[in-house]
Amino acid sequence: MTSPRMKLLLSNDDGYQAEGLATLALALSDLADLTIVAPDRNQSGASHSLTLEMPLRAGRTRDGIYYVNGTPTDCVHLAITGLLDHEPDMVIAGINHGANLGDDVLYSGTVAAAVEGRFLGLPAIAISLAGDHRHFDTAGQAIRTLFTHLAQTPLPPQTVLNINVPDVPHGQLRGFRATRLGYRHRSEPVIESADPKGRPIYWVGAPGDGQDAGPGTDFHAVENGYVSVTPLHFDLTRHAALPALGEWLPRS
Ligand code: MN
Repeated sequence: MTSPRMKLLLSNDDGYQAEGLATLALALSDLADLTIVAPDRNQSGASHSLTLEMPLRAGRTRDGIYYVNGTPTDCVHLAITGLLDHEPDMVIAGINHGANLGDDVLYSGTVAAAVEGRFLGLPAIAISLAGDHRHFDTAGQAIRTLFTHLAQTPLPPQTVLNINVPDVPHGQLRGFRATRLGYRHRSEPVIESADPKGRPIYWVGAPGDGQDAGPGTDFHAVENGYVSVTPLHFDLTRHAALPALGEWLPRS
């Protein structure tokens, strides 16, 4: 007797037409039942924002992909809380066009989509291709290997995995590494320009290079040709600072 196929909800932050999302779906299509709910435009950097002041609309392509006029978090929230007629078993977000290393996870809509799945009780994975060379097939093969493994040896239900795949041909991958998040140097300065009427406009500058990027970090794994796999949790409390803060607070 074969076990029932897992039902996966796929999303991303680059929009429903993105190559990374198409690669993700293709990589998993024969391993699980897929439903795709993704933003109708690029929402990279959307972080965990939820749309509260306007209605959401969901359209559907001829291939059955849902596209929503909202953020990645909206997509996953909507999918799990009412849009779909079934509850997915897991959420996978990506394949993001670019790295989500270190501090990036707080800005990332891809990671947010995965975390929203987790907030709603599902295990979740965010996967990103760490570069601009566009070896999406490498990331596709990596998630395929990991998902096959996971179907045989499940992870605890509250797990969120943040995966970054080196942007190299698949043959050059050296394997998987469990990592912690590093962090970046301060980002590049904002880029100032002018619109056609001469009014100033600004582009947010590129993220900084890795600062805390030594052995054991996600930066280091990717730099050395490994697929970086970081388990995330979202208790942002700085527990080690609690006793000192308690001492510091005014007495009355
Ligand atoms: Mn993106």
